Amino acid sequence: MGKSLKEVYKEQKSLRDKIFIFSLFGSIAMVLICAVNMIVSGNSLWTVIFNVGSALLLLMLFKLAFAKGKKRFARTFFVYFINMAVMTYLFYINGGVNSGMSIYLMAGLLIIVLSEHGVKRYIALVLCSVFHVVSIIISYNYMSEQAEENNNPVLIPDMDSFSEVLDTAVSLIIVGVCMASVLILLFNAYDKEKKANEELMNKLADMAITDELTGISNRRNLFNYLEMDDELFTTENKYIAMIDIDQFKKVNDDYGHLFGDEVLRRFGGVLLAQTQDPEVELAARYGGQEFLILFNADSREKAIDRINKIKQQLKMIRIEKYPSVNLTASAGLVLCKNHNNLTMLLKNADDCLFEAKKAGRDKIISSF
Ligand code: GH3
Ligand code: MG
Repeated sequence: MGKSLKEVYKEQKSLRDKIFIFSLFGSIAMVLICAVNMIVSGNSLWTVIFNVGSALLLLMLFKLAFAKGKKRFARTFFVYFINMAVMTYLFYINGGVNSGMSIYLMAGLLIIVLSEHGVKRYIALVLCSVFHVVSIIISYNYMSEQAEENNNPVLIPDMDSFSEVLDTAVSLIIVGVCMASVLILLFNAYDKEKKANEELMNKLADMAITDELTGISNRRNLFNYLEMDDELFTTENKYIAMIDIDQFKKVNDDYGHLFGDEVLRRFGGVLLAQTQDPEVELAARYGGQEFLILFNADSREKAIDRINKIKQQLKMIRIEKYPSVNLTASAGLVLCKNHNNLTMLLKNADDCLFEAKKAGRDKIISSF
């Protein structure tokens, strides 16, 4: 079973292919409308055959491009066929410059811009423009009055002035609607792509500062933040705590690395929830199972209290496969103000953490 036109259209990733389908079927509609118009106005059978034949040929081009994968050939054939055969033929039999056909010639050039690209676009534009200009000039000799004077065959029939105005108006509307549709299509595609790009950029920006496993800030963002914080060593009540899960290597060894990962993920969740509190400026993964939290507290007691609550939440973590595992953490807590630089601050926090481990783990050692 073949795919429907809508399915084929939706399948196309490139905007140019979508517009190619749009132009192809726009042209098919145009030649078929012309054919009906010719039957109604009693035009010669040959012109009807030409139009219906052109519609069939354009349909074959669609098949060639989208079923057989010969898009490049189909596109090039299409732009020359439309401009040099269809448009020119219709121009001659439909009233020439006195009718609305000149507007279709312009639409033909627009089809080139939309369908071709690169050098082929410029070549087609130049060749078809020259072809149109020459056709218009030659047409003068075959317009009824001049043709009769020069004994040339009448290729371009006379139109009364009402028919000329009507034909021009209808042509303007048809070509105008087609152009407007293409522009809407282009703008919609542009807006969609812009939105997708913005979403991608935001996602990349997020990925660049987030730790993949735990969802909190990564080390890069932590250092950027601390280096940019002008008030880190001057504010009275800023604290940094370095928190490290106890015996984590054993957790990995006893229950597996995946279980260890889940512990880190859940603890990341605990710290992420902390960042909802406006007092907490940043929570980050400092190393493998080492975390850092930067926060404000009115007093030392409140600072210790916050870390105790975090430790408590770690203890409450229960993971389905081994719910009896008890997790503890040690922490080094320091007041930022007592330091001159970042290296000193982090070293002091690390030293405190080391002391907490030495003192038997599951403890907080502070330096105020
Ligand atoms: P201590 O109580 O002294 O901190 O002992 P510990 O075992 O927690 O500390 P140690 O530094 O000896 O071990 C840290 C372990 O953390 C070793 C490493 O395999 C593990 N680790 C680091 N990153 C990850 C990770 O992303 N996933 C998992 N599952 N384990 C990790
Ligand atoms: Mg550890």
